[in-house]
Amino acid sequence: MIKLPTNAVGITDKPSLPILQGEIRACTRCEDAGHIAEARPLTAGDADAPFMVIGQAPSRTAHETATFYRGPAGERLQGWFVEAGFAPEAFGTRVYLAAITKCFPGRLPGSSTDRLPSRAEQALCRPWLDQELALVQPRVIVLFGGLAIGTFLSKAPLNQLVGRSFEKEGVTYIPLPHSSGASTWLNDPAHRQLLADAIERLREARQGFGQRNQ
Ligand code: SF4
Repeated sequence: MIKLPTNAVGITDKPSLPILQGEIRACTRCEDAGHIAEARPLTAGDADAPFMVIGQAPSRTAHETATFYRGPAGERLQGWFVEAGFAPEAFGTRVYLAAITKCFPGRLPGSSTDRLPSRAEQALCRPWLDQELALVQPRVIVLFGGLAIGTFLSKAPLNQLVGRSFEKEGVTYIPLPHSSGASTWLNDPAHRQLLADAIERLREARQGFGQRNQ
């Protein structure tokens, strides 16, 4: 376990989670600012969830189905949780689902790859994530993909981070690579071993809370 320096996050009001989730789902900041075609924010999870996933942004499939982490990449991530011993139904309940931005950002022009949310979009959405973190207070945060890892942990190469766990202010952070088909990182057998190590870190974290409801 690696200790990281603390980094305070400023939080103001603490509404109950259903109220907060309702406010998030009604948000149109990025659409109003012209960053995205249609705001359709997604949230999912229990107020006392001990685990939280923070990814990049919803996929087009998630946007179209209004279901967080839907589509091949999300289903692969859910499979990694099941490999670590979680019940499938824990994903989206005891495992809170969040992202750096909560709306589908659209595709890169002329590409089938999702666009990385801009710094402006990330800044507009960050207060929602900070309020979710303050309300849920997860004990373990899984950082899914380079944007979330770089935002909360380090911009070091993935092969220096995946497979390890990190602790900051009593919270355990477990970085995972993005499971999108657009990512080639997992094509390397050595990286697949790092992923197996990361799933083991997740299993250890789950066992640390006992197996009830997870
Ligand atoms: S990405 Fe976040 S800030 Fe932007 S419209 Fe969606 S919920 Fe609001």
